[in-house]
Amino acid sequence: MFDTLQDRLAATFKSLRGKGRITEADIDETAREIRRALLEADVNLAVVKDFVAAVKERARGAELHGALNPAQQIVKIVNDELVTILGGETRTIRYAKRPPTVIMLAGLQGAGKTTLAGKLAVWFKGQGHSPLLVAADLQRPNAVNQLQVVGQRAGVHVFAPEPGNASSNDDLDRPRGNPVEVAKNSITEAERRLYDVVIVDTAGRLGIDAELMQQAADIRDAVRPDEVLFVVDAMIGQDAVNTANAFAEGVGFDGVVLTKLDGDARGGAALSIARVTGKPIMFASNGEGQRDFDVFHPDRMASRILG
Ligand code: GDP
Repeated sequence: MFDTLQDRLAATFKSLRGKGRITEADIDETAREIRRALLEADVNLAVVKDFVAAVKERARGAELHGALNPAQQIVKIVNDELVTILGGETRTIRYAKRPPTVIMLAGLQGAGKTTLAGKLAVWFKGQGHSPLLVAADLQRPNAVNQLQVVGQRAGVHVFAPEPGNASSNDDLDRPRGNPVEVAKNSITEAERRLYDVVIVDTAGRLGIDAELMQQAADIRDAVRPDEVLFVVDAMIGQDAVNTANAFAEGVGFDGVVLTKLDGDARGGAALSIARVTGKPIMFASNGEGQRDFDVFHPDRMASRILG
């Protein structure tokens, strides 16, 4: 991800190097190149416009500091603006004053929620916490099993609906139980067994779906999460922004988790989503393994993009 963007920006900066002074025309040309590079990387148009305007304005007003030559100054401005659109400061989990801290995962099917649940569990364990995974995705036939496998691998307990608690006999493939009840009961279980973090996996569909959105909202109301994390596949490009807006409206969320950053998409989603949603990217996932995951640092990501 970001390879093309990296190359394009590097080429743009290279043409500035060696110039003792940067003219208005140089700034315009650079801004045009940056705009082209970002659009090619599939960054949201509104985000590109803001970005380029900010870079241009700051480049014009830049004082020529002794330590940096003009090209370096432009690189620094672009870096700073990248950090800004990526959300600025690193933001991690806000723990509940009184445990358990409840984390709810929401997003489309295939976004990587269940995989993420395992990654988060491992991460929380590494932070000295005792997490409980909750299988509140009762939509997909295999989702509960999948979470159980994930939990086993992570070495954490999975709270799942009781087998045989059938809500309907004619849909035998579906796991039984009511996801809102399961989620609610998991909190009592956590209190009783002293799990201090509860990670609730919820159902998603391939597209935005009113019924499931309502179910997610009902789960949210039942467990009153400390953090709702919107999980989004960075490979889906511009659709990530539309999906984020739909979830912001239907469920609301506090932070974003980008998955599949190891893919070969152009990276535009990653670069647009914090600005468009106004919510921080809190974690990033870059592989199928439980440790292919980390806290998202806007400054590190900006440095990576600038090579
Ligand atoms: P859910 O439907 O949202 O629960 O999504 P899953 O957790 O089942 O993930 C869907 C697919 O994406 C699975 O095949 C995962 O192994 C894969 N996946 C999840 N996260 C990542 C990631 O960061 N990188 C890659 N390459 N694959 C991922």
